[in-house]
Amino acid sequence: MSTIPENIHQVQRQIDEACRHSGRPVGSVNLLAVSKTFGVGDIAEAVDAGLRAFGENYIQEGVEKILTFAEQPAYAKLGLQWHCIGPVQSNKTRLVAEHFDWVHTVDRLKIAQRLSEQRPAHLAPLQLCIQVNVDGGATKSGVAPDEVEALVREIATLPQLTLRGVMSIPDIAPDFEAQYAVHQRVRAVFDQVARLGLPQLKQWDTLSLGMTADLQPAVQAGSTLVRVGRGIFGSRT
Ligand SMILES: *Cc1c(COP(=O)(O)O)cnc(C)c1O
Repeated sequence: MSTIPENIHQVQRQIDEACRHSGRPVGSVNLLAVSKTFGVGDIAEAVDAGLRAFGENYIQEGVEKILTFAEQPAYAKLGLQWHCIGPVQSNKTRLVAEHFDWVHTVDRLKIAQRLSEQRPAHLAPLQLCIQVNVDGGATKSGVAPDEVEALVREIATLPQLTLRGVMSIPDIAPDFEAQYAVHQRVRAVFDQVARLGLPQLKQWDTLSLGMTADLQPAVQAGSTLVRVGRGIFGSRT
């Protein structure tokens, strides 16, 4: 079995290769290590191997890890970055606002309003992506593509938040081409908002797209942040 540092090396090679293959500069895609269900020991190994950004799905679990690392001076000084990539219900917004640096899964104005109100003033603005649903119908989380612009315009007026881009979790399609086509629909939503040229969107720069299984087509479609769990930490039990 390969180790976490070896896996990171391997994933980084895949990302670099996907960049070259699609004519993008190597280094233009960031790697978010998805550490849900894995312990602080595994995360520490990934930190020691050079990673700084971690994604957590379950808010309570994530907050416990955030606090554990914050209490250790050797790690606290590294400036680890914590991304909430799981669903956020109203009763969890305060924990997200007080502990995380990023949230990727906002798909309702009410949640954004609460995050803005509850973000402590002494912290940097919470970095926010809107979750878009391009393939799942009404039962899936995320905003429909034609509703993104209205939500962006409303969220852009809220203090304590910085709108960074869009995130999506498309279902895994049968082959590369099909996967790429779905990813391109997300990319189109991202570009459409960028073209609005809203003054509040100066940092609209993040397309959070691609996981272990669909990293290459996501990079080819323009992802700037791939979220990789199993590829780094191994399979979740
Ligand atoms: C679990 C998860 C990932 C990582 O998935 P892997 O298949 O382990 O790479 C990425 N994004 C979200 C939103 C997730 O829930």
